[in-house]
Amino acid sequence: MSHKDFQRRGKEMIDLIADYRDTIIKRRVVPDVKPGYLRSLLPTEAPKKPEDWDAILCDVDQKILPGLAHWLHPRFHAYFPSGGSYASLLGDMVSGMGGCVAFSWNACPSYTELEIVALDWLAKAMGLPEFFLHECGAGGGGAFQMSASSSIYLSMLTARRMMTLKLREEDPENDPKNPKDLSCYLPRLVAYFSSIAHSALPKAADLTVVQYRALETDDNFSMRGDTLEKAFIAKPTTRSSYLLAWTPNSPDLTPPDFFIWGFVKDIVYSQKPTNIDDLRVKITQAFQQITLLMLQRTWAELHHRYELCRQMKEDIAEGLVPFYVSATLGTTDVCSFDNLPELAEVCRKHPDVWLHVDAAYAGSAMICPEFKYLLEGMEHIDSFNVNPYKWLHTHHDAAAYYVKDAWKLNETMSADPLYLHDTTEKVTVTFRNWSIPLSRRLRGCKLWFVFRDFGIEGLQAYIRNHCCMAKYLEELVRKDDRFEVVHEVTMGLVCVRLCGSNEQNKDLLRTINRSGELHLSPTEVKGKYIIRICIVCPETTKEHVGKLASHLFSSSKPVMGKVLP
Ligand code: PLP
Repeated sequence: MSHKDFQRRGKEMIDLIADYRDTIIKRRVVPDVKPGYLRSLLPTEAPKKPEDWDAILCDVDQKILPGLAHWLHPRFHAYFPSGGSYASLLGDMVSGMGGCVAFSWNACPSYTELEIVALDWLAKAMGLPEFFLHECGAGGGGAFQMSASSSIYLSMLTARRMMTLKLREEDPENDPKNPKDLSCYLPRLVAYFSSIAHSALPKAADLTVVQYRALETDDNFSMRGDTLEKAFIAKPTTRSSYLLAWTPNSPDLTPPDFFIWGFVKDIVYSQKPTNIDDLRVKITQAFQQITLLMLQRTWAELHHRYELCRQMKEDIAEGLVPFYVSATLGTTDVCSFDNLPELAEVCRKHPDVWLHVDAAYAGSAMICPEFKYLLEGMEHIDSFNVNPYKWLHTHHDAAAYYVKDAWKLNETMSADPLYLHDTTEKVTVTFRNWSIPLSRRLRGCKLWFVFRDFGIEGLQAYIRNHCCMAKYLEELVRKDDRFEVVHEVTMGLVCVRLCGSNEQNKDLLRTINRSGELHLSPTEVKGKYIIRICIVCPETTKEHVGKLASHLFSSSKPVMGKVLP
């Protein structure tokens, strides 16, 4: 294609995109095609000779577009949003303009600095602690990654590296001939996150070859500090070593024994025994309270306590080492929030533990003053991830990852062969040492365009509109007593379910999605099958939401024992 042809065809392409967006509402939200449909329409080999551009566009229109799921459709409500603004799209064209690969400042000076600027702008707009700003010069900063999953994986790899180095240093038996072998410490490491943390967390733990504990959340789907603290391997302090000494010694304790013992420990902890005799008295008293307590507590809590008790016992006995905690702000399942201040408080008692925050979706909302309360506890964290490609009008891929101490990340990631050395300028930020791939896309550019095109106020208005539509939907659903709203709506996600069996809810979702009118996604938390409805489109209005609710209600059969309104 010549420069002249590019000018003509480029304009045509822009028209095609604008027309698609303009008429998206007329389409089914998801296509009515079967797996393999496209492969059967396209040749099995690449063309030997150049083809006519019109023929290529014709295939786009007639074969590819009919198989597209329309994420930017006002009635697409599955998953979390994915940005798709024109500003981002055009910014991405500028990124691709020069065919550059931004692995170092010398390889791409302006784009490297643009990434730094865009990430500092984002951190400031969200109100992140200053140590996450490149500008602040305290050794921290942000780097774009492909996804939140990669950011989480990086955070765990870095935490693992730091902890294994420390264990090696403290190990009198380490082998000086093999200083790089840290693998012997891996079996002792334990990562902690909630049972509803994103699947990227257990996956990261598997990839880093460490054990993890998926901790139960409270009734608000929030991981709490006391749960974490109990799961941690506190070095036996006076009080806990007394208790440990008193833990019944049989390895085959049945779960009920553990429940009881878990309660006794709780009661005794709360009364702070002063010496071993006092402890004996308090344990006896605690056993006397147990029957009443067992009646009062739910089965779920009993089970939870059994788990914690077992973990504590096992962890301490096995000499495991907590090295990583991830708190989620805005869980994928229900958009709940772990209690960061409490978790940070626990981690402060264990300063070598890496505290990460995964705010892939909800983090963007921190640009609005009314969501700044989410920042509480953030001053104690080591790393943070947010996806501007979810809720800030930016295309995939653009996941922002911030670290407090970039030295730790660089020490984990650095690759420094001579052929990559900067031969001209010496710079402090070399992005190839901030991520796994060497070659990096120029992701800062599109976010920079988005900031300039919308302004922070435009981005705030976008997020507020989603939150407002979600609240409206919540209101409508609450009026129909066949449904329950599963978790308080704070952002753009509304989680609902028919007050019936999981099977009834599965049927309902299947019926709705088959219609092609709406697209919703499921999840299951604490045994309940839930229908997630997320506001994802910039153009979703109250009218769309009203129709969505009517569709939901009219697709629902009467639930046993409930009368249709
Ligand atoms: N963390 C949370 C809370 C998420 O909601 C998601 C995806 O929705 C992820 C992590 C994974 O994101 P990614 O697809 O960017 O890897």
